[in-house]
Amino acid sequence: MRPISFDNSYVRLPNTFYRRVSPSDVSKPELIRVNRQLADELDIDAEWLASDEGISMMAGCEMPNGADPIAAVYAGHQFGHYVPRLGDGRAMLVGEVITSRHSRFDIQLKGSGPTPYSRGGDGRSPLGPVLREYIVSEAMYHLGIPTTRSLGAILTGDKVIREGKLPGAILTRVARSHIRIGTHQYFAAYGDFESLNSLVKYVVDRHYPEINESQEYVLEMLSSVMARQADLVARWQLVGFVHGVMNTDNMMLSGETVDYGPCAFIDGFDEHAVYSSIDRGGRYAYRNQPGICHWNLACLAQALLPILGDDKGKALGDLENTLSLFPDLYSRSYQKHARKKFGLVTEEKDDDDLFVKFFGILNSEKDDFTLAFRRLSDISGGSDGVGNVSDLFQFSSRYRDWISRWKDRCNRDDTSEKDRQALMYSVNPIYIARNHIVEGAINIAVEEGEYGPFNDFVDVLKFPYLYRSGLDYYATPPSDDQLVTRTFCGT
Ligand code: AMP
Ligand code: MG
Repeated sequence: MRPISFDNSYVRLPNTFYRRVSPSDVSKPELIRVNRQLADELDIDAEWLASDEGISMMAGCEMPNGADPIAAVYAGHQFGHYVPRLGDGRAMLVGEVITSRHSRFDIQLKGSGPTPYSRGGDGRSPLGPVLREYIVSEAMYHLGIPTTRSLGAILTGDKVIREGKLPGAILTRVARSHIRIGTHQYFAAYGDFESLNSLVKYVVDRHYPEINESQEYVLEMLSSVMARQADLVARWQLVGFVHGVMNTDNMMLSGETVDYGPCAFIDGFDEHAVYSSIDRGGRYAYRNQPGICHWNLACLAQALLPILGDDKGKALGDLENTLSLFPDLYSRSYQKHARKKFGLVTEEKDDDDLFVKFFGILNSEKDDFTLAFRRLSDISGGSDGVGNVSDLFQFSSRYRDWISRWKDRCNRDDTSEKDRQALMYSVNPIYIARNHIVEGAINIAVEEGEYGPFNDFVDVLKFPYLYRSGLDYYATPPSDDQLVTRTFCGT
C-alpha cells in the first residue's frame, strides 16, 4: 500500500491566501464509503484510503507525509449581500495531488472542525448533508456535468448539535481547485491588488494555461470563466437541476459545480422551482439561474477592475463589453445541448421556438422533467408504444401538435431513427438523484445507521443513461406524499 503523494501549489502562494490548520481529533472515525473508481483516477491507492491511516486522514486526525492542511480565505455575495470575510469555516484543504495525466486536484475535508474562518460555527457537518453531497455530486459527474466529486465519507463518532443531536460526518471532496469568485472579491475589497494579481496568474496557470502572459490575460480569463460558467448553467437547466445557493463564494473559477447544500433535481417541471428553505424570495429559482450566473460574473468583473491598468474608463468599457457576451454564450451552449436532447443534429432557426414550446407545455402540465425527455427518446424510435418508460409516463393530448411538429423537424435531419434514438438515450437520463430518494436514503442512515439504500442509490446513479429492468423504483417520480419541496442545507 502506498499513501498519497502531494504537491501543494496553493500554500506556495502568499500567506494572505490562507491560514494553516492543525488536525483535530474525532472520537471514533468509521468508514461509510470510499470511491474506489475515483481513487484509481487520482492514482490514490484505494486500499490505503480504506485502511486505518486513510480513514484517519479523511477524519482530519492524522495527516500523511506531504499534506500541508490549510483553510483558504474568501469573501462573497450571499443572497445579494456582500460578506467581506467568509473562508473555509468547516473545511480544510489537505493538499493537492497530480494524476498520471498531469491533472491537479484538491483533496479537501468538509466538516473537519473549526478553522480561523469558522465565525462562531462549530466547523462540523451532520451526516445528512455529507450523504447528500456524496450522492448528488457523483450523480452530476456521471451525467457528464462538471462538478467537484466525493472521494469518501466517514462518521466521526461525535454528535453535532443542530435541530437536535445528529451524527457527525466528514466528506472528502475532490475539486480541480477551490478558487471562487469570492476569493477575488476578498482581495479586491481589501485593496490587496498584489495578491489579486497573483491569484489571477495562478488561476490562468492552473485552469486556463492556453491564455498566455499577454497584457489582456485578465480579460481573457474573465471570458474563459464566462464560457465555462455559461455552459455549466446551461447543462444544469437541461437536467432540471436547481443549485439553490448560487452565492459568489459558491461559484468556482474552474467551472465546476460546487456546494451541494439545498440543491435538488426537479420532478414535475416548474420553472419557478425553489427548494432551499432559506431562499424565501426565490432568488435562486430554476428560471433565474442563468441571470444569476451573469450577475455573479459581473461581481468577478468588478473585482478585476483594479488590476486592469490605470485607464479606468477603458478598463470599465472592456469589462462591460466582455460581460455583454454572456447571454449569447449561454444561449449557444444551451442550444447545443438542447438540440441533442431533442435528437437533432442540424440547426434550424425555429429550433429555439420548438424547445421553448415544449417547456411551455411541460411547465403548464407540471409533467416530470426527466421522464418527459426519456419518453421522447422512446418515441423517437418510430414506435409510439412501448419503450423504457412507457409504463411510467405518457404524453397527454396537449402535446399532440407539438409532437407532430417535432417529428417533421426530425425528419428534416439526415439521421436514421435508430441513430437518433441512440443519441437521445445517451443524453436523456432515466435515473437522476430524485430528492425523495435522496432524503429516504439519508433518513434511514441517520436514524438507523443503515447504509444499504445510500450505497445502492450511488451505484445506480453511476449509469444514469442506461436503462436496466428492475430499477423502476429509481425512475419513478414521487407520489404526492413523497414529494420533498424544501431542502435544508443543515450547516
Ligand atoms: P456555504 O453555505 O456552505 O457556502 O458556507 C458559507 C460560509 O459559512 C462558509 O464560509 C462556510 O465555511 C461557513 N460555514 C458553514 N457552516 C459552518 C459551520 N458549521 N461552521 C463554521 N463555518 C461554517
Ligand atoms: Mg460554500
